[in-house]
Amino acid sequence: MVASFTLSIAGCRVDNELDSVSKDLSTYTLNLDFDSSTNILSGAESFDYINSNDNTLKTLEFHLYPNAFRGDAKYRPVSTLTSDRAYPNGFSEGKIDIKSVSVDDKNIPVEIGGDDQNMLIVALAEELYPGDKVNVQIEFESLLPNCNHRYGYGQNTYNFGNFYPILSKYEQGNYKRDNYGANGDPFYSDMSNYNVTITCDDDFVLASTGNQLFTSSQNGKTTTTISAKAVRDFAFVLSKKFSVITQTAGKTTVKYYYYDDDNAQQSLQAGIDALNTFSNLFGEYPYETYSIVKTNFVHGGMEYPNLVYISDGCEKYEDYINVIVHETAHQWWYNLVGSNACEYAWMDEGLTEFSTLLFYRYNQEKYPKDTRESLNASLSSFLLFSDVCKSVYGKFDSSMSRNVNDFASDMEYTYITYVEGVLFFDNLEENVGEKNFIKALKHYFKKNKFQIAKPEDMISSFEIITKRDMQSFFNSWITGKVILQQCK
Ligand SMILES: [Zn+2]
Repeated sequence: MVASFTLSIAGCRVDNELDSVSKDLSTYTLNLDFDSSTNILSGAESFDYINSNDNTLKTLEFHLYPNAFRGDAKYRPVSTLTSDRAYPNGFSEGKIDIKSVSVDDKNIPVEIGGDDQNMLIVALAEELYPGDKVNVQIEFESLLPNCNHRYGYGQNTYNFGNFYPILSKYEQGNYKRDNYGANGDPFYSDMSNYNVTITCDDDFVLASTGNQLFTSSQNGKTTTTISAKAVRDFAFVLSKKFSVITQTAGKTTVKYYYYDDDNAQQSLQAGIDALNTFSNLFGEYPYETYSIVKTNFVHGGMEYPNLVYISDGCEKYEDYINVIVHETAHQWWYNLVGSNACEYAWMDEGLTEFSTLLFYRYNQEKYPKDTRESLNASLSSFLLFSDVCKSVYGKFDSSMSRNVNDFASDMEYTYITYVEGVLFFDNLEENVGEKNFIKALKHYFKKNKFQIAKPEDMISSFEIITKRDMQSFFNSWITGKVILQQCK
């Protein structure tokens, strides 16, 4: 039976694009232990890094996002507007302490830098040339705040998003050190592989990125072993109250984790319908798992690879469904096609908002929604916002490509990135026609899958499909020169 064995292996290799993509990626091995009596996560991280830059590196820099939850943090992920809802029991501190660092088995001093104790700087003993490999081991202990946020716990869930030291992007001779403030999702990372074990009380239910391979129990604690190939980040959520329902969509097992939802089956179905719709429209979702997770979360939702938070704070069920669809679209525009969400947030948020409208357009019967009416409402609210800004500040800047921390407020960020973003993609579709628009997005997805796309990559896909110069059209929106007015 050797022949058929060989054939099936060969078949696997052809079928599984994740296996072939993952071969050239760096790998994080995380061994994590969560103690719910102290809310401390102890972690041992081993990072096998392959220098994929064209530059020779002397250091590696890692983001320490949990430090933005410190009591004396200069930049805070929680804005004053959302503070009461994020901290219903009053302020609670979160942080990450780095216990030790070693490079290729040699201990080195721990060096914390950045504007706000937000970067771990690892000096390499020898210069790392393009294509070279190095192993970095980091021991850390992080405190989870009582905060309904990406990283924090609430009444029902313990959310571990952006919780471990993750390599910063190296661009034009520098590491990106964007601070973790309240505007947007200021995260930007390359695809990597993850081998993770999570140990916690055995009455916790675990939702995570990747494939949960097996579990073992000892002394009231359960250890789960997880593997994730070619993902941009790793996140997990724990709850003692989770119910889980599961259904398959193609080769993907879709799971819905929830603690109170009278329409649980319908919520799961919305995720499956979104996954199928976007697979058909843009290109196939290549992973074996997708988890939709109800969480204590101050905003509507949050995207991670293979896993999304859906806030239990949505007032209307139709909004809850809308968030499921939006976060599912991010699996294409954030995870599979990455972009710099700190500089060009419109590339993922604007396109994700418009993809959500496409979902309703292509599923009219099952999910009736007047998408033209919602675009008109977006335009009205955008014009109102710009009028208010003009009367208060005497000017209004509608340029879309700006650093997240350069927006005056979370509200300005939201109007420019989501609302103007969705109007931009609507105008783009009108300009090139529906057929070309979808063809160009398919092209953009195929060309940039597992990579980081820049605005010029998106422009190029539209130019290739339409055979037209699209630069000035994109520029008029990106630089804020386009004049918007209410349809009569
Ligand atoms: Zn989003």
